[in-house]
Amino acid sequence: MKVHEYQAKELLGKADVAVPAGIVITTPAEAAKAYDALGGGLVVVKAQVHAGGRGKGVAVGPEVDREEALAIASGKKPRPDGMAKGVQLVRSAAEAEKAAASLLGKTLVTYQTGAEGQAIKKLLITVGHDIARELYLGLAIDRNLKCPVLMASTEGGVEIETVAEKTPEKILREPIDVGLGLADFQARKVCKALGLTGATAKKGVVFLKNFVKFFIDTDASLAEINPLIVTDKGDVMALDCKLNFDDNAMFRHKDLAGLIDEDEEDPAELRAGRSGLSYVSLDGDIACLVNGAGLAMSTMDLIKYHGGEPANFLDVGGGAGKDQVLEAFRILLDSSRVNAVLVNIFGGIMKCDIIASALLAAYDEIDFRVPLVVRLEGTNADLGKELLEKSGRKIITADGLTDAAKKVVAAAKGHAA
Ligand code: ADP
Ligand code: MG
Repeated sequence: MKVHEYQAKELLGKADVAVPAGIVITTPAEAAKAYDALGGGLVVVKAQVHAGGRGKGVAVGPEVDREEALAIASGKKPRPDGMAKGVQLVRSAAEAEKAAASLLGKTLVTYQTGAEGQAIKKLLITVGHDIARELYLGLAIDRNLKCPVLMASTEGGVEIETVAEKTPEKILREPIDVGLGLADFQARKVCKALGLTGATAKKGVVFLKNFVKFFIDTDASLAEINPLIVTDKGDVMALDCKLNFDDNAMFRHKDLAGLIDEDEEDPAELRAGRSGLSYVSLDGDIACLVNGAGLAMSTMDLIKYHGGEPANFLDVGGGAGKDQVLEAFRILLDSSRVNAVLVNIFGGIMKCDIIASALLAAYDEIDFRVPLVVRLEGTNADLGKELLEKSGRKIITADGLTDAAKKVVAAAKGHAA
């Protein structure tokens, strides 16, 4: 689960990780008020979307071609005068109001959002700091080392992806023991690599240790501070923060679950999640209803092997009762791209004849506008197949995965033609 920068900073602040003060607003008038409340001087107006690259991004209305906007945001085309950036520095309440008006209601296109962009609904108005140095900090799970790894680099503020690709030696990687957190010697080592000295290094050690503790305590899966700044006065502070939490750990962080911004999520994935289904949207035209992630992978492999392209897959997990199947069909058929549906279910604990009855009941309740291919395997598979065949519905039954894949690819092609 992703959260916005302002939410990440609120959480970091509570965990004693230094962040600038800020106020979230949704109207230009509020931006002016927030400017005054923050004490004036240099203030930064920042678009809140789940993507980075906002500083170079462009906020555009419907009149601007999105591919053009993406080319500008990626630095491939020169930026025309007056085109609003996603992060703007202001020095008066009037400027804050103007900056807010140039962003709210627009779509922000950055090199990370793609041409589609993301709608700007909220802004973070935050204290601007004089930056002596811009550094980079990241925390992610290293699957090979099986632990979080703290990444630090003096090359902050820029696209870290470029640093990782061209000069990987400029990124220090420090593995973290989740039982111990960041050890003192590790914190000092990282501070040294970042060139922090004296009182700033002491602040850096506290910052790093609290940051790592926060990451472990919240079951975060990714945390990135870019830039981490050193101010003129020698303070260290997170000017930006990207934060993701592990969805599988949300059950023990009920307080964090409320931070989800449904506007930023795929509507079909959200809808599926509410019914205990997991849904993944893809680019093709064959919808897949399966049970279990492994079966989903092999189903998609076989569809592709036989010349088709999956439109999505929906994993009903252990339960394939009528209500779940019904909701699953509705979600799958909601996409106009879909030309055929493949149901591939292994009935282990749940018997195939029960699943077949659920499929039939669900089938009758919806207007099934595309061909449906069903392959059932496992307990009572023959009984299930017989039920489907004798039902008189327009359901194509299949024997085995290969047969199912071939039939659904042919059915999708036939429907598209
Ligand atoms: P993004 O990574 O999405 O472009 P950032 O929050 O990193 O957004 O902002 C981009 C740049 O804007 C930063 O690298 C920094 O130079 C400047 N900036 C952001 N917030 C502040 C701030 N509070 N004070 C001063 N400069 C800032
Ligand atoms: Mg940034």
